[in-house]
Order: sequence, then C-alpha cells, then structure tokens
Amino acid sequence: MHDKSFEPYLTAVQIDQAIQKLADQINNDYSGKRPLFISVLNGSFMFASDLFKKLTIESEICFIKLASYKGTKSTGHVITAIGLDIDLIHRHVIVIEDIVDTGKTLHRFLPKLFHQQPHSLKIATLLHKSEATEYPLKLDYIGFDIPNKFVVGYGLDYDGLGRNLKEIYQLV
Ligand code: 5GP
Ligand code: MG
Repeated sequence: MHDKSFEPYLTAVQIDQAIQKLADQINNDYSGKRPLFISVLNGSFMFASDLFKKLTIESEICFIKLASYKGTKSTGHVITAIGLDIDLIHRHVIVIEDIVDTGKTLHRFLPKLFHQQPHSLKIATLLHKSEATEYPLKLDYIGFDIPNKFVVGYGLDYDGLGRNLKEIYQLV
C-alpha cells in the first residue's frame, strides 16, 4: 500500500468475535439505560457499525469528527467536535474509537464531553496500543491490546487507503 508493506494481523473472524464479546458486555451493562454512542470518525465507522448491529438493547448513535487547531490564546491545541448535536446531560454516553495510541486525542476531548454533565461516560475502543500510552485513560471496553506498530484496515487508513479491508494488517 503506497510505499509500505503490510502483513495480516487480525482476521475478519477474530475481529467479529471480539466485537461480539464487547456487545455482550454492553448489552449486559446497559440493559434498560438507553445509552448514546458517539462514534469518532473517520476510523471508527466500521467498528461502530458492526458493534451497533450486535446490540440488543435500546440505544442511540451519533457520529462526530474531531478537529484540532491551535488555540488563539496561549493554550496550544484545542479539539472541537463537529456534528455533536445531541444534548449529553443525564445521558449514558459511550465513545467509540477505532484505536487509542498515545491517548492524546481522547485526553483532550473527554473534558468537553464531561462539561455537558452526562450521567456516565465510558470508552469503547477496538484497538489499544497500551505500550504507547502517554496520556493515561480509563478504557472501559477494549477489543484488542496490540503492539506499538502501525496498523491498517477495518476502517483504519494509511494515507487515505486501506479503510475498506475486512482484516487488520500490520506494518512489516
Ligand atoms: P492518540 O495517539 O491520540 O491516542 O491517537 C490518535 C490517532 O492516531 C488515532 O485516532 C488514529 O487516527 C491514529 N492512529 C494511531 N495509531 C494508528 C495506527 O496504527 N494506524 C492508523 N491507521 N492510525 C493510527
Ligand atoms: Mg480515531
């Protein structure tokens, strides 16, 4: 892909089984609570779709994009959510991420969500590079803990390509 070589890492069956396990836990944990899922685009669209299909409880979903820009004041980078048009107050919120690497993105973004006073706020991520953690986060639902190597497929891209792959591939 582009200039780089990738090798198979997780099969479509492994991914499906891991997502079923997460869905089972969520179905159990949120029975009667009607959670609101917030899927962080672009990377999480496939995971969010497959996870959502496996839910048997009442639930809602919305999709957001995070935009990072240099703050006009001295505060440095600021992250804003585009498309977050549902009020979070008193809601049980679950953020859906494709991958948590250093943790920086969520570390910056979660305070914005807490600010809206959700009843509860949890994170579901398909992949976690725990070795790469720089900003510790409590991750509530994790599909796979993976080594600190670049991966593509199943929604994740390398410079725009690879999102359509049913499997996940690792940089050789
Ligand atoms: P963070 O370091 O803030 O936890 O992760 C930031 C973002 O980097 C992720 O949401 C994802 O878009 C991207 N990222 C991190 N590791 C990988 C990887 O191995 N493959 C791809 N395609 N994206 C990654
Ligand atoms: Mg992401």
